[in-house]
Amino acid sequence: MKMDIGCRFAFALLLSVAPRAAAGTNPDGAPEVIRLKVGTEVVIEVLEFDEAKGVRARRVDDGALLDLTFDQMVAEDAQRIRAGKGYLPDEPEPVLVDAMRVKLMGGEEFTGIIVEQGNETLTLRRGTQTWPLKRAGVRSITPVQVDALEVYDGEELYAQELAKRNPRLALDHYNLALFCESLQLWVRAKEHLAQVTTIEPGFKATIIDGKIKRATLRLESGEDSLLLGKAQRLAQRDNYDAALKAVDDFLEKKPGSALRAEFEKQRRLIAVSREKWLKQEVIVHFFKYAERVARTVAGEKEIGVKQARQRMELEGTTLIIEATSKWLKVPSGEVQAQWEDPKRLTASPHYASYGAGTFTIGSVEQIQKGLVAQAETAKKADPAAGNAGAEQGDYLEKIKKILEQKKKEADEAAKNKGKPKAPQKRGPEIADVPPTDDEWWATASSDERVQYLMAWWADHDPHVQIMKVGATACPQCAGEGLIRFFDRNGDNKFVPCSRCKSLGIDRTLRFH
Ligand SMILES: [Zn+2]
Repeated sequence: MKMDIGCRFAFALLLSVAPRAAAGTNPDGAPEVIRLKVGTEVVIEVLEFDEAKGVRARRVDDGALLDLTFDQMVAEDAQRIRAGKGYLPDEPEPVLVDAMRVKLMGGEEFTGIIVEQGNETLTLRRGTQTWPLKRAGVRSITPVQVDALEVYDGEELYAQELAKRNPRLALDHYNLALFCESLQLWVRAKEHLAQVTTIEPGFKATIIDGKIKRATLRLESGEDSLLLGKAQRLAQRDNYDAALKAVDDFLEKKPGSALRAEFEKQRRLIAVSREKWLKQEVIVHFFKYAERVARTVAGEKEIGVKQARQRMELEGTTLIIEATSKWLKVPSGEVQAQWEDPKRLTASPHYASYGAGTFTIGSVEQIQKGLVAQAETAKKADPAAGNAGAEQGDYLEKIKKILEQKKKEADEAAKNKGKPKAPQKRGPEIADVPPTDDEWWATASSDERVQYLMAWWADHDPHVQIMKVGATACPQCAGEGLIRFFDRNGDNKFVPCSRCKSLGIDRTLRFH
């Protein structure tokens, strides 16, 4: 509900400017009246103060010790005590009122006060606006408590409160003045503060003086304060640069403004928020665009696998930076700096597999790079508890054995056939069988190509952080690297697997 948020924010905003003037209420130990939510009030002297909980106090009437939590007090009084200790939350508790939430059959929702009920219609009011609604179109009506300014006009709310409270004592007027401050009714607030002084000249003289000055200031700088609110709202919607520009323009045009300090403070806050936002957004969007760039390259016609992965390796990161900076509307240099920051945030893990294209990587060393070392590290780092690590280790061991076994068999087979073969290196190999690299690329699906290019990019961009190099068994030969068959004579024969070319594995990467 957009309107709710808007109202709430406006409300929070006006109070967020309040702390300075309101701070410094009662000196320690002076008796004060605390109204409780249950409807009674106590006169106490605060002995101990805990911002998070409440106060320990002595009742003035019988001297008894009393622990009061802020939750038990009327919001205004809890706020005043906090303020007295210099604590005024930026977003204090709103004044809550009873209202109705009306849900329509079409799914729309309205929150307001029902001001008129007919047989077939009802009228919902919100602020100074009213909406007639047909009962037939209403799905449900639920009573709710909402921020007062969401459904009432400030002046109207004030009139209600004035009638209800009928202020007579200095304290009554003081509390009403606080209420008016909450509603940003500065003229009203000043009226009641003046009443306080007339009725009881010594009543919180310093605070009253501060409050009157502040109300006057807020009236005079109403326009500036609206601008400040606008800047804050822009920042809330992640439009930081526009927000900073608004603040900077103001500071340049009105260097003598009474709200200068407030603007400067907001500028710092917005800059901090922007930095935080940028850190997160860059990483989130970076990987999204990495995949899009990979998809674009993968879809290029007439491109071979070597050119495709070269393009991804040499131009990919630049294209990703450009796309991310365009999306975030920030200079590409900032995106690049975030990406290259070794302490950058990390995204949720991404996964890519070279798939059936594993054999095209080039050499067995490159295919296994990081694989065994990773398994050993996992074992070392987590000798007892790491079930997953152990399984990963076992699995890699198994693959290794299979590869060795397959190699032996291949040698024997070669001997049996009597064909003298050139002496071979130990370890697995990439069998010289079809398809070629480009034949595989030509038949690979779009998703396979994207995964392949993402894996290649992750393997080659120095700022990608590899979490784990893995190997999955080739689905065609179940990781054996060869396909067995019986020839006409019933002899056991085999050929290298045409998918993995006897590697038995697909190289996979988990990275962020
Ligand atoms: Zn295979």
